[in-house]
Amino acid sequence: MEKKEMLYEGKAKKVFKTDDPDLFIIDYKDDATAFNGLKKGTIAGKGVVNNRMSNLMFSMLEKEGVPTHFVKELSDRETVVKNVSIVPLEVIVRNTAAGSFSKRFGVEEGRKLSSPTLEFCLKDDALGDPMINDYQILALDLATKEELDTITKMTFRINEILKNFFLTIGVDLIDFKIEYGRFHGQIILADEISPDTCRFWDVNTHEKLDKDRFRRDLGGVEEAYAEIMKRIGLN
Ligand code: UDP
Repeated sequence: MEKKEMLYEGKAKKVFKTDDPDLFIIDYKDDATAFNGLKKGTIAGKGVVNNRMSNLMFSMLEKEGVPTHFVKELSDRETVVKNVSIVPLEVIVRNTAAGSFSKRFGVEEGRKLSSPTLEFCLKDDALGDPMINDYQILALDLATKEELDTITKMTFRINEILKNFFLTIGVDLIDFKIEYGRFHGQIILADEISPDTCRFWDVNTHEKLDKDRFRRDLGGVEEAYAEIMKRIGLN
């Protein structure tokens, strides 16, 4: 497989074409942003963690029957993925109140939710990724009813698989964000699953092991990413 010209550089990744139009190569960077790009920095080694962790999570989900964009890990930072067209939605699942949910609804961070919640945000940096509901998604033709049903079902299933897996390594999956893409007409899981996109709290100490350490200037950012890597059995 040949790595060809760069197609796109995002906040945390570069995307390259390959000689196969169905496949791209992703290259994960150490650059970190928060608050819609307002806060910028680097987290040493983050690209390696996010690449290798995402690939492990995607492989695990594939084994459980969830279709993903993952094809093959090329190196510590590079992975071959399917060339999907991204559904412009951030799909957020919450098991415990935190972050914008706590703020919006005036609920203390750490309150366990009686049932998992699902919310959609429109992927649009200029608009600050506003929340959008099912009716609005359909009315704007961002996805079909069938696609939305698939996304909803798949997302709750992914939550169950991930939540149970993380419990076995002493990690409470508080919430996470995923994205989907269309590949030859099929909805598949895309983007990444990493400490950048999930909130992970130690089950016993409630210590944060995710990007909130960067967002909130808590220190020990690199150490938190390394701890998650260690717990999932990578290193
Ligand atoms: N999230 C993300 N990208 C975003 C917004 C949120 O990966 O652009 C993740 C975030 O890491 C957390 C979950 O989605 O695990 C819920 O985030 P929330 O809505 O609470 O937003 P935040 O407090 O991060 O602004």
